[in-house]
Amino acid sequence: MKIIMLGAPGAGKGTQAVKLSEKYCIPHISTGDILRTNIKSGTELGKRVKAFLDNGQLVPDELVIDLTIDRVKRDDCKRGYILDGFPRTIPQAQEFESALENDGEKIDYIIDIEVPDENIIQRMSGRRTCSHCGATYHILHNPTKIEEICDSCGKRIELRDDDKPETIKKRLVVYHEQTQPLMDYYTIKGNLVKIDGTLGIDEIFNSIVEILGE
Ligand code: ADP
Ligand code: AMP
Repeated sequence: MKIIMLGAPGAGKGTQAVKLSEKYCIPHISTGDILRTNIKSGTELGKRVKAFLDNGQLVPDELVIDLTIDRVKRDDCKRGYILDGFPRTIPQAQEFESALENDGEKIDYIIDIEVPDENIIQRMSGRRTCSHCGATYHILHNPTKIEEICDSCGKRIELRDDDKPETIKKRLVVYHEQTQPLMDYYTIKGNLVKIDGTLGIDEIFNSIVEILGE
């Protein structure tokens, strides 16, 4: 089963992708996580993309397209995968789609988690992440058991640099300008499923599972 999770930054794509990955035993692929890992380990790619992430801008299409196509060709993706944060532009969607078509494959579900901007600002500013294992929390909606300590690996959680108020606003503008056109693109293609993302984490998960099947 191949799934794309769409939605604004902070809509809850990653939160749901982690749960879906566990349930369906397919990898969760977050392009944001891959880029952050590259930045942290100082790779050439990391050096090229750092300023874009810091400024809340999208990284150039050609960098993220090749990276994602290579990732889904790995053995662990044979039974499917969940893409979180990709595609974010129409050229990304088109190029990815043609790469899949060349291999006789297609995406099965495109899930759009819809959340109004007011909730997004609250979600991103309350988000805390573990840079060690990638787990995501929210200070109010999904707190850690011990304050500021990751439940999964015991390291200290932190506010992502791009979750600071000035960058959150920029990322929302970028989302509306560059990523939202994808909703029309996929609606016309007829395989977009819209989910009310203002509900609780478990309710959203249950409504996605209803669509994907047990
Ligand atoms: P995205 O991957 O779309 O950027 P995340 O999954 O990281 O978003 O979620 C953003 C923040 O909102 C996190 O702090 C997460 O814990 C919180 N969150 C996710 N889903 C919900 C929800 N349904 N209700 C309230 N908070 C949520
Ligand atoms: P995310 O973790 O999905 O919120 O992504 C964090 C940042 O990584 C974004 O603000 C972009 O700078 C970059 N990024 C992640 N995925 C993409 C993508 N598909 N296209 C362009 N930039 C991306």
